[in-house]
Amino acid sequence: MNTPPLLALRGIHKHFGPRPDWLERLGMHLGWLPPPARVQALDGVDVEIGAGEVLGLVGESGSGKSTLGRVAAGLLRPEHGRRLWRGAEIDATPVAAHGIQMVFQDPSASLNPRMRVGELIAEAPRTHGLITRAAQAEYVAGLLHQVGLDAGAAGRFAHQFSGGQRARIGIARALAVKPALLVCDEPVAALDVSVQAQVLNLFGELRGRLGLTYLFISHDLGVVRHLCDRVAILYLGRVVELAPADELFAAPAHPYTQALLADTPTLKAEKKHFVAIRGELPSPLAPPPGCHFHPRCPRAFARCREERPALREIAPGRHAACHLHEAAG
Ligand code: SF4
Repeated sequence: MNTPPLLALRGIHKHFGPRPDWLERLGMHLGWLPPPARVQALDGVDVEIGAGEVLGLVGESGSGKSTLGRVAAGLLRPEHGRRLWRGAEIDATPVAAHGIQMVFQDPSASLNPRMRVGELIAEAPRTHGLITRAAQAEYVAGLLHQVGLDAGAAGRFAHQFSGGQRARIGIARALAVKPALLVCDEPVAALDVSVQAQVLNLFGELRGRLGLTYLFISHDLGVVRHLCDRVAILYLGRVVELAPADELFAAPAHPYTQALLADTPTLKAEKKHFVAIRGELPSPLAPPPGCHFHPRCPRAFARCREERPALREIAPGRHAACHLHEAAG
């Protein structure tokens, strides 16, 4: 029997925008008012992450990657779609309450400036009954050691540390409830390049030592290539390509991924951020019909403007949402 993935997201839809009140709904019903503009952040996303895997989630600003991370971590509820944890509906699975933790880009925002680091790290495991107050100091010291900080850090405040050290504190805090999956949302984006490398190495070490699984969100192709087993490319709320990282970087299948990599001439360069692809990312308030990428796609044809391409398997373990591959298959 196949082992179910650690986390599976099926048919996830998430919109943002004002919900009309009863008067506005009446006006819309009578045709006096247009429907309110809503941002279509996720438009039918299917991804799964196997235990011990690192799945990279890549996209431009506005692609929906952070929203997907928050849905995966349970911080946002989708309008439609299912979240499955080891094959079971996640909301009915108590382990999910602390089986998934999030690591943020700016740990300062989630670290209470009035609490000492030891209290910050111990807060969640004490709430979940994982440790007693008597065991707290030793438990926190063990976590600080795991992320490369000494036990003395427990008595200080987060603002007394450098950016890289605060990132380590954020990771220790996430690990404190013994998660199986870390959803990492641009966790090194705000750090200097040399510090980035150290924190990325720490993620790699922790994965090996603790058997962790990561959903690793980044706009930085170099970071993703360094750390991830598979990569999902997101464009305007849809997964357009999903493939093993080495295969995706060697031979991207989707025209959007091809454009991203073509416009990133050297992944070794210090700045590996997205640079301009032909045309602007369309507004998620009114995404283009058919294939969302068609206004920017050099290979678009008539069908692309009308019909959404399904994400389909184009080779073992490789998926792309593009009519060209449908025709070829
Ligand atoms: Fe380009 Fe058409 Fe493929 Fe979309 S479906 S990526 S527009 S060729």
